[in-house]
Amino acid sequence: MKYRDSLSSHQLLALYILLALCLLLQCAAYAAAPLARTSAPGFYRFMMGGFEITALNDGTLELPVDQFLINTTPQKINDALAAHYLESPLETSYNAFLINTGTKLILIDTGAGNIFGPRLGKLAANMRASGYTPSQVDEIYITHMHADHIGGLTTDGEMNFSNAIIRANRKELDYWLSEANMAKAPEGNRGDQKGTYRRAMTIMAPYVKAGRMRPFDGEAELSPGIRAYQSAGHTPGHVGYMIESQANRLMVVGDIIHVAAIQFQDPTVSVAFDSDSKQAEKERLKEFTSIADGKLLFAAAHIPFPGLGRLQAKPQGFQWVPINYSAGK
Ligand SMILES: [Zn+2]
Repeated sequence: MKYRDSLSSHQLLALYILLALCLLLQCAAYAAAPLARTSAPGFYRFMMGGFEITALNDGTLELPVDQFLINTTPQKINDALAAHYLESPLETSYNAFLINTGTKLILIDTGAGNIFGPRLGKLAANMRASGYTPSQVDEIYITHMHADHIGGLTTDGEMNFSNAIIRANRKELDYWLSEANMAKAPEGNRGDQKGTYRRAMTIMAPYVKAGRMRPFDGEAELSPGIRAYQSAGHTPGHVGYMIESQANRLMVVGDIIHVAAIQFQDPTVSVAFDSDSKQAEKERLKEFTSIADGKLLFAAAHIPFPGLGRLQAKPQGFQWVPINYSAGK
């Protein structure tokens, strides 16, 4: 008996359908997957002595760095960027830092919130991805009152951190919350222009009204192991925070640097939106020198996420040494 005779026409049809399905499935397995596009959640965690440190990314923006750096030339900027395989506009990180001391959850700066569009304002989502919620934050320490550092405090006039008190240098607060200073400032939204004052006032208003502001004067220990130090120049009351636990130190420097590929190598290069660019340049050089001399780990808001590393002094300028990756423990 021939094989063919053993199958009914129905059975044959079923066989053909099965074959067709197999072919289809085979094709489906090779279909192009849609591009995922996003990276891992923007948090990076490590232990430092008894403190847990979490770098939080608020997002990135493409910045035309060749248009706002001063004490240099566009040619020098582009050469320095090219030496790092980069170009302008440069994708620039916006970072903040969360410290769990074991008894308190302390956030240093808050990112931009919704002020600079959807590429920023991811701090709360990344904090949640890291295992914490904004309502758990006990205290927020501000480096300075530019909107990319305080914007995350509020959304449309509502406080995003329902239980936190806010610590900021009194000199910085008084400067940016002054109607008289705003009246004297030129129109615009950069540096010491009217828009920067207006935004600071709007962002801080709910916390001021709720009695949640606790200004400090210059140098102060705000919590055991966390001390504010003066770092004026970028803004008049700009401060950094030295964090110390079990003889380990981390220096959170705020905005003494904006473009890692250029300003480590040449700390005389400044940004056009410093309140006092000469003072900022002096402060940058002083802090870079003490970071290199002390082999200090430091954290900065705008160097590539997680914004953590050390410096080595070189005959000219400094060399950036990023932190070694830790998977946590
Ligand atoms: Zn900034």
